[in-house]
Amino acid sequence: MAQLSDDCFAFGGPMMSVDEAVGLITTRVNAIADLETVRLTDADGRVLARDVVAPLPLPPFTNSAVDGYAVRDADLPQGVERAFPLDGRIPAGGLAQAPIKPGHTARIFTGAPMPPDAKTVFMQEDVRIDEAGRIVLPPGLKPGANVRPAGEDIPQGRVALPAGQRLRPQHVALAAAFGLTSLDMVRRIRVAVFSTGDELASPGEPRAPSQLFDSNRFMLMAMLRRLGCEVSDLGILRDERTSLASGLKQVAGRHDLILTTGGVSTGEEDHVKAAVESIGSLVLWRMAIKPGRPVAMGIIDGTPLIGLPGNPVASFVTFVHVVRPTVLALAGGLPEPLTPIPLRAAFTYKKKAGRREYVRASLRRAQDGRLEAIKFPREGAGLLSSLVETDGLVELGESITAVEPGQDVGFLPYADLL
Ligand code: AMP
Ligand code: MG
Repeated sequence: MAQLSDDCFAFGGPMMSVDEAVGLITTRVNAIADLETVRLTDADGRVLARDVVAPLPLPPFTNSAVDGYAVRDADLPQGVERAFPLDGRIPAGGLAQAPIKPGHTARIFTGAPMPPDAKTVFMQEDVRIDEAGRIVLPPGLKPGANVRPAGEDIPQGRVALPAGQRLRPQHVALAAAFGLTSLDMVRRIRVAVFSTGDELASPGEPRAPSQLFDSNRFMLMAMLRRLGCEVSDLGILRDERTSLASGLKQVAGRHDLILTTGGVSTGEEDHVKAAVESIGSLVLWRMAIKPGRPVAMGIIDGTPLIGLPGNPVASFVTFVHVVRPTVLALAGGLPEPLTPIPLRAAFTYKKKAGRREYVRASLRRAQDGRLEAIKFPREGAGLLSSLVETDGLVELGESITAVEPGQDVGFLPYADLL
């Protein structure tokens, strides 16, 4: 399990920027060293524990990039077209043992190995066949055209996938292209997830008139799974210090991270802070971010705890900026900074300088063909519809105080966040 020092999340300032927060997390969280060998078919979404060094070049042999006709280097038509009798046929998967006879051409197909002495292929669309059945090749083709040399994609011996890479389907494809059947991966990060609040009922349970169904826990578990975590669903803790404390204490030491939602503000019904202080150490991080109230960071028996706010949108946004980098750091993953895509705002907005704000927005194609971001019409941090009916978040940096229609803003699609 992750073992962190009690003061690892301590922070002196009253308010920290999002970048400071991410910087603190990535420098203070220790990566888990446990590896496991994972079948290639199960590797997507997980973090690579060791470099993958190319065991063979890609492509493994020089081959034709098109269906066409191969010629010897010495026979390339110069200045005028030239007719060649056919000598040989090399399909994909076939062998090109013999060199082409001088003055001849070989029929060759995409992916087939090049014959010795030949490094140029004419596309079949560019040739014609004369009355005598010979292949007439045009002049002007450069040596090496339409051929993929061995190793042009990746040379043998190069680090093709670095340790810390979180695998996506294209990385899995590369490992398969090397003939690998399994990879050394960091074991899944184990996360215990709790909701807190007397007003919450679990879906499937009876709901009292003053209760609402717990939605955050299901959102957070889904987000964690997308980050490759193994999630323990630990239900709802009541707003009471001692039961909160015993619930948290039970899972510490058996998970790499404890994640809670709700109860981290400073009201008298917010008990997460006191519960963590009674069994471990806690700091409240006040990040200069909206939406998102304080986030609790703590350590219980060496296990890090993150307490997210209860409002669903604040919970979502703080997950992205605090939990996501923590999970990546625990897995020893390479940092995956979020890169907002520039596009045009189609809304007016005012904000305070000195804090970063995220505006829920939908994309629309404007009349001039450019993409525009349209702000969700309402602002409440409790509105789940605002996350469901939009495409992503417009990121407004600390220095921005206003947005006018037509201005360029940075957009983070929800699909890029996990
Ligand atoms: P809190 O952070 O506990 O003060 O909660 C802030 C708001 O978020 C309150 O309106 C809560 O009812 C709501 N809330 C807290 N936890 C959840 C949850 N797990 N699912 C949905 N709403 C929640
Ligand atoms: Mg609460």
